[in-house]
Amino acid sequence: MSQSEALEGAGKSARILIRNATILSMDTAVGNFQRASILVEGDQIMAVGLGTAPDIEFGSTQVIDAEGMIALPGFIDAHRHVWQSPLSMAAADADLNSYFAAVPGKLAPVYEADDLRTANHIGALQALNAGVTTIFDWCHVLHSPAHADAAIEGLLDSGIRAIFGYGFPNTETAWSMDSERPVPNDIRRVRRERLTSDDALVTMAMAARGPEQSTIEVTKHDMGVARDLDLLISLHAGNGAFGLPYRSVERMYEEELLGADVQYVHCNSLTDESIQRIADSGGRMVSTPAIEMQMQFGYPASTRFLAAGIRPGLGADVVTSTGCSLFPQMASAFQAARLQELEQGTPEISTYDVLSFATVDGAESVGLASKTGSLTPGKQADIVLLRPPALTVMNDPIGFTVLGASTDCVDTVVVAGEIKKRDGALCGIEAGQLQMTLESCRDRLFERSGFQPPSSSFR
Ligand SMILES: [Zn+2]
Repeated sequence: MSQSEALEGAGKSARILIRNATILSMDTAVGNFQRASILVEGDQIMAVGLGTAPDIEFGSTQVIDAEGMIALPGFIDAHRHVWQSPLSMAAADADLNSYFAAVPGKLAPVYEADDLRTANHIGALQALNAGVTTIFDWCHVLHSPAHADAAIEGLLDSGIRAIFGYGFPNTETAWSMDSERPVPNDIRRVRRERLTSDDALVTMAMAARGPEQSTIEVTKHDMGVARDLDLLISLHAGNGAFGLPYRSVERMYEEELLGADVQYVHCNSLTDESIQRIADSGGRMVSTPAIEMQMQFGYPASTRFLAAGIRPGLGADVVTSTGCSLFPQMASAFQAARLQELEQGTPEISTYDVLSFATVDGAESVGLASKTGSLTPGKQADIVLLRPPALTVMNDPIGFTVLGASTDCVDTVVVAGEIKKRDGALCGIEAGQLQMTLESCRDRLFERSGFQPPSSSFR
């Protein structure tokens, strides 16, 4: 069988052998390799760092020659509102208030269940295309049970590894501003009937409003529901100046709500004392640095969390205002930390730290560290191959991945041993058809909401 024949029919093979790759395992016990192989069997990584790889071309082994490429664990996007995929760059110039007015205020309420199915399916494909193999979908357009089902089906159809964060309806501000409404009871149905297993490719969490979006009574109630259903709780906290008056972590502390099952997103305006309280409770943290700086939340809090002993994950958050990949997030995290170190004396971090945030630390932040986030034998085979652009000399594969790479470099993506992207193209999809589907979804949303995108002013 020729190499090209072997590469055809992407998808499931009993075995995949990735040869001649520069390997960044993101596991200190496994280490990094200049030129070595990775063996995948079924959905698992069997071996990493085999020298001159055995010429196993028999049977059902699919061989990928990764000469000149960098192999690393698939990226973990620990915080994204996947439903926004048809709204790409619709709010590029927005600050937090104008984003609230346009996106949750105007566009979110007009989502029908079918729109959400399309948006989640294609949004997850956008992430896969960018090398994201695990995504935390913070879903806050659950206007009805049908919406929740559609959102989950969209994720399932994409083949990405996902944590579906069950949120709330976004039909009116009474759901999201100082809300007195408890999380819909439908969350129990979804947990008991749809996402029952914590071992499946798509698992469940709660996307909770917390004290910055709901009353403390509702926060208490909702967190109680999540704990009853054994769900990780993700909430926005310390959203810049907006979040400051709510003193969210202090109030949760007073109510004894903090815990290791809580993931705090953004955290820019939290005090060092609040961060220490989170650390003492074993909590997790996610930063979305590009968005936080663009929307003027302040410096990313990731280095202050590092100082308190918590390693953060990274998220793209809103594709209304950033790209679909973690590349700009990694660059922003590193660059902001360098400046912050100079101005505020926060800890120095390296590009390796930032790549850890986007992989192994991100997996920890979403509760999947035992399954993914590093190229470790026994973990799930979630792997990305990056092909540097033409005329690149590779002197620092870590620095290149964090500061020099882009989605255009993502050659191959493997999720749970299944090849989802190969030779720079997503496998098993009709790209032209999906493009039209996404655009007509976008057109419907704009028409129903009356939203005018920036391009509408062009001649
Ligand atoms: Zn968010």
